[in-house]
Amino acid sequence: MSEQAGSDRAEADSAETETTETATTETDSTETAAAETATTETDTSGEPVGGIVAAPSTTSDLLTYAPALESAAIVDIAPTYDLWIDGRWVAPSSGERFPTMNPATGETLSQVALASPQDVAAAVAAARAASEDWAARSGADRAKYMYRLARLVQDRARELAVLESLDGGKPIRESRDIDVPLVAAHLFHHAGWADKLDYAFPGRRWHPLGVVGQVIPWNFPLLMAAWKLGPALACGNTVVLKPAESTPLTALLLAQLVDEAGFPPGVVNVLTGAGETGAALVSHPDLDKVAFTGSTEVGRQIMRTLAPRATPMTLELGGKAANVVFEDAALDQAVEGVVNGIWFNQGHVCCAGSRLLVQESIVEPFVAKLQRRMATLRVGDPLDKNTDVGAINSEEQLGRIRELVQSGLDEGAELYEAPCPLPDRGWFLRPMMFTDVTPAMRIAREEIFGPVLSVLTFRTEDEAVAKANDTAYGLSAGVWTEKGSRILWMAERLRSGVVWANTFNQFDPTAPFGGFGDSGFGREGGIQGLRHYVRMEAA
Ligand code: NAD
Repeated sequence: MSEQAGSDRAEADSAETETTETATTETDSTETAAAETATTETDTSGEPVGGIVAAPSTTSDLLTYAPALESAAIVDIAPTYDLWIDGRWVAPSSGERFPTMNPATGETLSQVALASPQDVAAAVAAARAASEDWAARSGADRAKYMYRLARLVQDRARELAVLESLDGGKPIRESRDIDVPLVAAHLFHHAGWADKLDYAFPGRRWHPLGVVGQVIPWNFPLLMAAWKLGPALACGNTVVLKPAESTPLTALLLAQLVDEAGFPPGVVNVLTGAGETGAALVSHPDLDKVAFTGSTEVGRQIMRTLAPRATPMTLELGGKAANVVFEDAALDQAVEGVVNGIWFNQGHVCCAGSRLLVQESIVEPFVAKLQRRMATLRVGDPLDKNTDVGAINSEEQLGRIRELVQSGLDEGAELYEAPCPLPDRGWFLRPMMFTDVTPAMRIAREEIFGPVLSVLTFRTEDEAVAKANDTAYGLSAGVWTEKGSRILWMAERLRSGVVWANTFNQFDPTAPFGGFGDSGFGREGGIQGLRHYVRMEAA
């Protein structure tokens, strides 16, 4: 599915650019009316949700279009949420809650429970109590629940996509066409493994690990939940999952679907809270494994916490991927790959192609092409189906990105910002590209986790490899060239968990994903991902 999603996206991008005017003048009167209704119906404040306005720049003729808002009426957000423990909704023991916001408006969507260490203990105890029965069931029986969950995700796909975009700020086109279909694909894939694990580990006897604590970030809230739950449940483990504090709503809806799918109580528990809740979970002494996706800094803290106990762990951390474009590449295709590589999900992507390495002979025309393409990107309401770049996930993240952009300016890089208008409220940034970047600059070394591209150059393949590998991270890389032999030569030498060739940001449940160095260790997806959820002995 993922390759399809990626190419659909690129095609949709270019098709939308070409057909913008037609859509505006000929097709959209009903959609406009629907959009207006949706806006007034669904915005909790009663104010219209800010759609994009006509571009005031030279691109305005090209970009004038009618809004095509997905209605938010399909989601039913409760004013407050409890914790999902032992198959029941349980009020937080402290009584404390915290707001989760819509980053496109800055408004509070709901108040969710803040799980205390006592709640963590209750969830781990529930998972422990459920563990023996879940592990003893046949693989086919476990698969039955997982298939149900995957089908429920498909049934409720639109609702999940809208909620993901409302709570996290990502464009509906991405949550609808990429995140949610991939969630279902990961659940189906792992459900398929549940009764075939003897074939995954031939000649070995395998056992579930037991109770797993899983902590996930805000950039792909539902997808990261699926990456975590899928292999753990298939292999007979029970789970306590903690979503990120700024994007808890789809994990809570997933808990409702777990309930509807009829999972036995305690097999899946969902605790909301911030870093303290995550820390309480990963340091709980009765866990048999910890799986964490998030920042390298927190990953290090978790390693320190777990080191004395030797609890098995997998850490999926940050990245600073090189996207390498050779002079013989199909340049227009490469431009789309660079756009997808860095402005997908506002650049809030661990494997984002945030360092563009362009062969020196083509740097000027390539940067010019990129600038032209950037001028067609639309930043705006995540629920607008025309939006390419949605809202920055939180005000805090907006500040972090701005600070790094300022460092790029201070260190002498040249900044180009896409000339698009921004909504007048919410947390938004224009797509940005730095040229005149040197490898020592912070914008070339640190993960910005925002819509900011740093362009560097190289002359030879050796130099491309040296510069691409000149990073503490090692999660992903891209190579653009028409030579198959060069792709293989580069892939052997690039120090990263994934190397994409003439494409970027493709995710597939059958393929292992994970990093080296500061990007962490362990793999998610494929047989490799299953291995982290079993204990093995010789048969
Ligand atoms: P973060 O590390 O701040 O938070 C991640 C999660 O950890 C959140 O749920 C948070 O509440 C929790 N947490 C915070 N402090 C904790 C602690 N001391 N102990 C336990 N849990 C704690 O990261 P983020 O800002 O939410 O996410 C962005 C980061 O995630 C980026 O660095 C990105 O590259 C990385 N990421 C990696 C992958 C991957 O597969 N490698 C995928 C997505 C995101």
